[in-house]
Amino acid sequence: MDATMQRPLKLLLLGGTSESSRFAKDAARMPGVATLLSLAGRTNQAAPSPVPVRVGGFGGIDGLENYLQRENVDVVVDATHPFAAQISSNAIAACAKANVPLIAIERPPWERRDRDTWSEHATAEDAIAALPEAPTTVFSALGRSAIPLLCARPQHHYVIRIVDPIVPPPELSDTVIISARGPFQAEDDIALFLEYRIARVLAKNAGGDAAYSKIEAARQLQLPVHMVERPTIAKRLAVRTSDDALAWITHLQASRTKRGV
Ligand code: NAP
Repeated sequence: MDATMQRPLKLLLLGGTSESSRFAKDAARMPGVATLLSLAGRTNQAAPSPVPVRVGGFGGIDGLENYLQRENVDVVVDATHPFAAQISSNAIAACAKANVPLIAIERPPWERRDRDTWSEHATAEDAIAALPEAPTTVFSALGRSAIPLLCARPQHHYVIRIVDPIVPPPELSDTVIISARGPFQAEDDIALFLEYRIARVLAKNAGGDAAYSKIEAARQLQLPVHMVERPTIAKRLAVRTSDDALAWITHLQASRTKRGV
């Protein structure tokens, strides 16, 4: 069959990351591919998108399975954050049930270098519990969901960087909220850490470039980093970059054309 006569490949892109933005930009230019970007809707102002966007959860595994069938989705690209384990696990299960191919973009985690002082922790709770008893100044890049967890160690002075502004809970009255969206630069984070006299850093091992600046800044200033390790996600077809995922989609397109689908 002539590729121009084919029904467009309906691609559901699970996003919310720099990889999904990059993928959406390139996929928008791919002939015969109709991409829909799906966002959880956690931030007030999503970045502009070159492809149509839907916002909000699907309603668990069954909700996503129903959505894939109802909307005749041909392929799912999971470009969510490495710590968004719930949606990634749901996508694995729903795609298997609906018999829809799934590919994930998994950026490699950051690796400790010689001058780094990291302690590694399975959860954000563990990373916070490992803070010293004596009051100190802590930079938290653990995200909004970790703010209630910080209340377990209210003696510290926190500087919290999150996308949308928030009023800190009363237990954390001595807290500075910095509302900002990456990418960030190491020299800016060094200046920030010096300005606030940061003594420790709470971070998730997100990987990628956009949020690496705080790790670089902690290295330069020789600050200890409490690093939360990634959650485990079941095995799935995965590539490292948005370009690799696009190459796989091109291949999928070619095989559909060959089979006359
Ligand atoms: P999560 O815990 O894995 O997901 C919780 C629920 O939110 C999911 O079960 C799903 O609801 C809904 N959801 C998540 N991502 C979605 C998407 N792209 N489209 C539609 N529904 C989605 O996720 P999270 O950690 O809260 O992260 C939410 C979003 O923020 C993700 O898309 C992720 O890429 C982005 N993000 C997360 C982090 C982080 O550190 N976790 C950092 C940067 C960006 P239903 O079960 O109802 O379908």
